[in-house]
Amino acid sequence: PCTDYDMAYFHSYAHLGIHQEMIKDRVRTETYREAIMRHQDSIAGKVVVDVGCGTGILSIFCAQAGAKRVYAVDASDIALQANEVVKANNLSDVIIVLHGRVEDVEIDEEVDVIISEWMGYMLLYESMLGSVITARDRWLKPGGLIFPSSATLYMAPVTHTDRYSDSVDFWRNVYGIDMSAMLSLAKQCAFEEPSVETITGENVLTWPHVVKYLDSYNVTISELESVTSKFKFNSMMRAPLHGFAFWFDVEFNVPTVAPTSVIESHQVNGSLRKRRTNPSETLVLSTAPEDPPTHWQQTLVYFYDPIELEQDQVIEGLVTLTQSKENARFMNIHLEYTSGNRSYVKESVMR
Ligand code: SAH
Repeated sequence: PCTDYDMAYFHSYAHLGIHQEMIKDRVRTETYREAIMRHQDSIAGKVVVDVGCGTGILSIFCAQAGAKRVYAVDASDIALQANEVVKANNLSDVIIVLHGRVEDVEIDEEVDVIISEWMGYMLLYESMLGSVITARDRWLKPGGLIFPSSATLYMAPVTHTDRYSDSVDFWRNVYGIDMSAMLSLAKQCAFEEPSVETITGENVLTWPHVVKYLDSYNVTISELESVTSKFKFNSMMRAPLHGFAFWFDVEFNVPTVAPTSVIESHQVNGSLRKRRTNPSETLVLSTAPEDPPTHWQQTLVYFYDPIELEQDQVIEGLVTLTQSKENARFMNIHLEYTSGNRSYVKESVMR
């Protein structure tokens, strides 16, 4: 059923600004185009579904790669614009724009390829992956291709003194006035909810932990309702720990050809870098702090008070990401962590 929340969600995608932001994100858009062109063999002459086509850009890339037919599906009114773009580019004989939810529209054939740009902040916010799964289970041929083929959500402990001071220590001296009385409110206002912002490899205290690996071919909708993962970090530095950062990457692999790449983390100039040791050069769209920035940035969950860490100090605990009962597109982030002999809990909601 299409809820009021869904209506509001699709309405938000009717505005052009959000599409412009995504298209201007060259890391995002060019990686998709590169994936489509590099795997042209799997797309040329084939039937494709673009789940959530927006302006139609990925459908048009697939048409350029020689797709026989592309079903471009979007429930938002942006689909009306996509249809105009398709016509103006003389692609109406290849691209069929369907204005409706993937859950509701009818496609009278099986498809060879599903492409979608479904990733939200910290991967799972917006929870659009369920719609890709629905499309897969409704239409994908056995042996068909899904792009992206997998996704990985990471987390790591971070230090970010400037950011913390900006929001908190600021109140200690305001034009010479001591406004420290504001401190606890300031912490609450700044750090109650997760924040989307850009950090760098320098903020990251140690190697990331994989919170969830999702294989597009096997992931199920129920598996996404709640994700829990235990973590254990060893801080590589002596530094104040201000919170945890979350980010993700997605891969564009053709099944049977390339196995999932092995990730090796190592340090370069004090910042963390990953090196992929996959000879077949898997194409990766990364939103990691050490990689070029994207419109997803990173998602930070700050603590109200920093924890002073020694080098090699252990931070261990548990993270649970749950779709909100109030609105399945919102996400509850439950964090439990221990450091030294103290335990902490932090609850936040991404709305
Ligand atoms: N593919 C485009 C737009 C990506 S944004 C691009 O890469 O630029 C995601 C789009 O998916 C939005 O336009 C949103 O309206 C659409 N969408 C999300 N869930 C959907 C669903 N269940 N059915 C149809 N469209 C959906």
